[in-house]
Amino acid sequence: MIQLASVSKTFQSGRGKVRALIDISFPIEAGTFTALIGKSGSGKSTLLNCIGGLEPPDTGNIACFGTPIYSLGPRELSLFQRRYMGFVFQRGNLLSYLTVAENIGFPLTLNRVLGRSQAKRIDELLDRIGLASAATALPHELSSGETQRVAIARAIAHSPSILLADEPTANLDTVTGQQAVELMRDLGKDHGCTIIMATHDIEITGSADAVICLKDGRIHEEER
Ligand code: ADP
Ligand code: MG
Repeated sequence: MIQLASVSKTFQSGRGKVRALIDISFPIEAGTFTALIGKSGSGKSTLLNCIGGLEPPDTGNIACFGTPIYSLGPRELSLFQRRYMGFVFQRGNLLSYLTVAENIGFPLTLNRVLGRSQAKRIDELLDRIGLASAATALPHELSSGETQRVAIARAIAHSPSILLADEPTANLDTVTGQQAVELMRDLGKDHGCTIIMATHDIEITGSADAVICLKDGRIHEEER
């Protein structure tokens, strides 16, 4: 389970202080799919980044499976992220100089899954995302839908406990976007991954176990 307790975050910008998150508390059950919705600027990315260990909150605590992540030292935190977390961003963010297979293998290498076990996992994922024939392609040779599928495979390759996705369908058409979300959920289900996804797509929220709506940095409404 992921537990957020009184999480607040203020940014200092040219326009003064921006209270991006204000006293956010909620639990997320392990193995569930949570959709995070709200207008642009409502705090979705900041919240995901806080949960992912990428953005320390000013106050409050975040515990991921019993570990208060901001009590960890920098080295322990990066080991925790590398082992237990996966990230999918709006634009895939594949490493442009690595092939599709190498991109998927990257988190496996970081987790010392090497050699034949790595090759086996990469092949399995390439099959699952329907891109077995693109193993040696470079990212610029892929469509945006294919790019996002590779990004999802990469995010989940090391079977993370938590998958954080920040508007992963924003650059895709409706059908491709829905396929990407289904893929994420399918791959996540294999090992009981907890998925938290920021999205503008109202269709996606229909299939979520929980929907959290942010408005000006506060939880506006919460459905379960
Ligand atoms: P969303 O993802 O819902 O669009 P964000 O979390 O990106 O919202 O942003 C929430 C608020 O915090 C916005 O007002 C945004 O301008 C501000 N903000 C986010 N990141 C920064 C930053 N690094 N510096 C200054 N302001 C920021
Ligand atoms: Mg955002």
